[in-house]
Amino acid sequence: MSEKMLLDAVASEVIVCEKCPLSKSRKNAVPGVGSHDSRLMLIGEAPGASEDVKGEPFVGRAGKFLDTLLLMAGLSREKVFITNIVKCRPPGNREPKPLEIETCTAYLRRQILIIRPEFIITLGSHSTSYIFSMAELPFSSITKARGRTYKASIWDKEATVFPMFHPASALYNPEYEELLVRDFQFLRTKLPRTILKRKQPNSSCAR
Ligand code: URA
Ligand code: SF4
Repeated sequence: MSEKMLLDAVASEVIVCEKCPLSKSRKNAVPGVGSHDSRLMLIGEAPGASEDVKGEPFVGRAGKFLDTLLLMAGLSREKVFITNIVKCRPPGNREPKPLEIETCTAYLRRQILIIRPEFIITLGSHSTSYIFSMAELPFSSITKARGRTYKASIWDKEATVFPMFHPASALYNPEYEELLVRDFQFLRTKLPRTILKRKQPNSSCAR
């Protein structure tokens, strides 16, 4: 089976999954978007209200801010794979429970193994804590972890991990917003040119 087919298979399973209680309250499960050959993966926490309606990650207010941040790093949505550690919306946007994370990350694990990303951005403490524990890196808090890169071996694949605050946290905390901007600018300096958005070709058409 091709990687694309394997990734599509994960999405098909997620859409009908009833492995944890979040299946009862969700409207739509949100498997993730992006290509199987993305070199960079962004991992958020869990879908919110807008994502639950659309079945797509980061399409609400936090998602709009994430788009701006991606642009700052020279990236576009088409170049990256975006998903969450938990694929269904926790009621009232509460934090995902340990058992929900444990159950649902079986899907994330498969997605990572198929995509084999060189770069992983973890957004928020739940996502960072999960990826750090998979990489056997110590984690205390997102505040301490952010602002630098980590070489990680995740299921036998080397990746560079960039832990960051969750973009939703910046919506009510200007200090986090500033640090997120700084971290995405730092990200830009660390990514190979081949991954960055191509400049618009010169439109020097003679009229
Ligand atoms: N917050 C997340 O962590 N993920 C989403 O998809 C949307 C908001
Ligand atoms: Fe299944 Fe994950 Fe949704 Fe729970 S959160 S029902 S494990 S897809």
